[in-house]
Amino acid sequence: MRIHGNVKICRRNNVGEQTDYEKYRDELREDFGFICGYCGKEEAITSKGFEIDHFVPKSIAPERETDYYNLVYACFTCNRKKSKKWPTKNKDLHNDGKVGFVDPATDEFDLHLQRSEDGNIQGITDVGKYMCNQVFKFNIRPIKEMWLCSEILNRQKILEGRIENMSPEESKEYIEINKQLKELLQLLFAKKE
Ligand SMILES: [Zn+2]
Repeated sequence: MRIHGNVKICRRNNVGEQTDYEKYRDELREDFGFICGYCGKEEAITSKGFEIDHFVPKSIAPERETDYYNLVYACFTCNRKKSKKWPTKNKDLHNDGKVGFVDPATDEFDLHLQRSEDGNIQGITDVGKYMCNQVFKFNIRPIKEMWLCSEILNRQKILEGRIENMSPEESKEYIEINKQLKELLQLLFAKKE
């Protein structure tokens, strides 16, 4: 399974240059399908908000600070974990085949990282494993709980659309998943997601 599930992340063409990268937020959110490019977390599943990450860090490529094609919509947690890490130290070399990064807005991303059936994230290649274990720490974060939370949110949305015509079974399910969701969010927020 893909980390981003059904969301296809793609930066639109011809975005005019802004003087402040925060001004791209609306377009970036939309192009990233309202999820974190790195862990796939939905906006609704955060206590700390979403941020704009510079894929090639500002310290390595200061000239790309306001380049839309260098921006990644990222959750607070992923952005903090990535921080200034850029092991190749070369702005034109994203990774050396062993360590480094892959842009989540490219098809290549899916070749390096994947989501298992239970919702966890695994590295497929060395670079994928580096991102997974050394940078974003998907191995010790509540990744599968976040995935379950997205699934529950989707189910909740569907049921909400049927609220007028819900069968008794659906009403029961609706109450049950709302309870589950509340508990799950509490757990995730306690783990600083
Ligand atoms: Zn994230």
